[in-house]
Amino acid sequence: MTTLQTVFSRIEPIYRGKDARVSYERRIAAQAALKENELPKALSLASQAVLRSTMTGVDEVIDGGVTLALALWVRSEVLLKLEKPNAALEDLKLALKERLPAKMRAQYYWRMGHCYKGALEPTRAKVSYELAGRLLGNNEEAKIELQKDIESLDHTLNKSATKSSGITLTGGAKMNKPALSKLVKITEEENKGRFVVANDQIKTGDVLLVDSPYAACLISDYYGSHCLHCFKRLEICDNGAPIWCPICSGVAFCSVECRDVAVTTYHPHECKFIDIFIGSGMSILSHIALRMITQAGLETSLQIYSSYVNNGIKTVEGTIVNDIEGSAKKSRIKSRKERLNRSRKYHKNFSDQNVNCETKSVEDKESYQDKLEMTAAQIYSLCTHSTSRKGRDYLKRVVMAMFLTECLKRSGFFNKLDMESEIKAKTSICELIIHNLQLLQFNAHEIYETVRGQHQFSGSKPVYIAVGIYPTGALFNHECYPAVARYFEGKKIVLRAIRPLSPGATVSENYGPHFLVRSYKERRRALACRYWFQCECVACREDWPTLKQMQSLTPYLRCPNTDCSSKFQANPKSLPSKCSKCSTVIDPKLIKMCMENIDECQTLYQEGAKLMDQENLDALSSLCKGVDLFHEVATPPHRDTHLAQESLRVCFAAAGNIYKVPEANI
Ligand SMILES: [Zn+2]
Ligand SMILES: [Zn+2]
Ligand SMILES: [Zn+2]
Ligand SMILES: [Zn+2]
Repeated sequence: MTTLQTVFSRIEPIYRGKDARVSYERRIAAQAALKENELPKALSLASQAVLRSTMTGVDEVIDGGVTLALALWVRSEVLLKLEKPNAALEDLKLALKERLPAKMRAQYYWRMGHCYKGALEPTRAKVSYELAGRLLGNNEEAKIELQKDIESLDHTLNKSATKSSGITLTGGAKMNKPALSKLVKITEEENKGRFVVANDQIKTGDVLLVDSPYAACLISDYYGSHCLHCFKRLEICDNGAPIWCPICSGVAFCSVECRDVAVTTYHPHECKFIDIFIGSGMSILSHIALRMITQAGLETSLQIYSSYVNNGIKTVEGTIVNDIEGSAKKSRIKSRKERLNRSRKYHKNFSDQNVNCETKSVEDKESYQDKLEMTAAQIYSLCTHSTSRKGRDYLKRVVMAMFLTECLKRSGFFNKLDMESEIKAKTSICELIIHNLQLLQFNAHEIYETVRGQHQFSGSKPVYIAVGIYPTGALFNHECYPAVARYFEGKKIVLRAIRPLSPGATVSENYGPHFLVRSYKERRRALACRYWFQCECVACREDWPTLKQMQSLTPYLRCPNTDCSSKFQANPKSLPSKCSKCSTVIDPKLIKMCMENIDECQTLYQEGAKLMDQENLDALSSLCKGVDLFHEVATPPHRDTHLAQESLRVCFAAAGNIYKVPEANI
């Protein structure tokens, strides 16, 4: 251990810093590209000039210290040409803040006029043009040009109200768990832990969960293309171009707001080590384990440590009312779990308010950390399987945690403390990271963006851009034939039903291995390896065929007795006269009616497919109706129904993170 400590103590920051010279060169190149009307190239160069620039006043030798302002100035021109007036306006305002030279003021307001004109705000455009006019002095030629611009304004045009997106939960949000729909509830069973079940009849398409992550990290491959904080693709932001970190050049933000949250909370403690993280091949889960600490800060992290991880859990006297009774086996871990349950109850009142680790302004920093601490109650009650871990498994994580703790120290994370408290705090933080690593292994979600071509659906595919941990989203159990499909709206996870569910049925997710693409053996191996459990879902119990093996056979019909789970194949040549399990008589007339229903399903599926071909989202309602109808009389596996469910997944995702690849890149 001491050897390791000596090795780690030599860690030095490695990151791509700022360089005014590089920024200057990129800016000149951007201007050249702009002259040639090579706009995408000009934009890329101008953004590099912005992101690489030293902060204002740092390097007086180049551009008299205003490299950043000049880079923004050039980029605003490019953005204006690209018909992104709002983004151009943002850059202009930022350029002014970064001390754009006074002699450029007339040009500044002139361009601002263009921006407002483009943004369909003619009144503001006029004010800006007039201001420019006053600053032009006696440059008569320019004044004539400006007058033309003023006359070109069309005052009948007006900014249309921006439509707000936002999906809502079917049946409304639960009071005590606002991320969940009222149609579901959380239940607890001894061997299964806590999981989500239907509380009411659920229909295909119902929105059951919309949850914000407790912590989430962008995969480093996307640092240049996506906002580090909210994961928005920078290229498709119309209201702003990439914003810089004041220290490194390795990341970018979609807006000043995102940047300010990041640089006042977690980013300063990660910024200078980013290249070490990438270079060492550190996993994204390790990065989130660290982020869970950096976003909370030292004080809150230590609070979290002592409340939820340290064995001596503190609970406030008198707040523990209904203790959840565990099994007779009272191991230390078990009782720790109970204590976690208690503190969960204690914190429940707080989490009633929609706990959302998002914050708009820096002043909210305190409440941001308060909220984190509250959500932490939920996060730290998730399973870690710490009792079944082997020595080697621990060692790997201990080494990683020590490395990350040392990086934190180097970033000044423990600076406020004296020597003695620092040693103590380092140990606690290291332990907390180990705990984080364990719970992330089983509870993290990969966040994806759908990348599509010219057609909305055909050929579209999910691309994983980030990983996050969701306090309520982590409570869904796995089945190889899941009940929900997930997609992401920014960082938020959304789960929608892809089949109907009766009250009491498990609302399952899929952690990766799906029965349609992986055989029973493959699934069993994957789940045992990664999640340490054996699946007992219906697809596993009945060893359903994969999609490739599945033929369009006659469907399985349900036994007419609704209490019986038996099914039979509706083969006209060998129809059973009664149920093999409960002996209920099967009336041939009933079978005929069921088969008619299934024909109608097929028609609805075909209609859905046709609408998808036409890129029409009405496909959703046909497919949902079809799947619901199928389940009324029949039961899977059924090839066409599974294909319809996969189509539904694609349709749902159309409301989430989407990137349409520009035509030229295909
Ligand atoms: Zn952002
Ligand atoms: Zn940085
Ligand atoms: Zn299974
Ligand atoms: Zn039966």
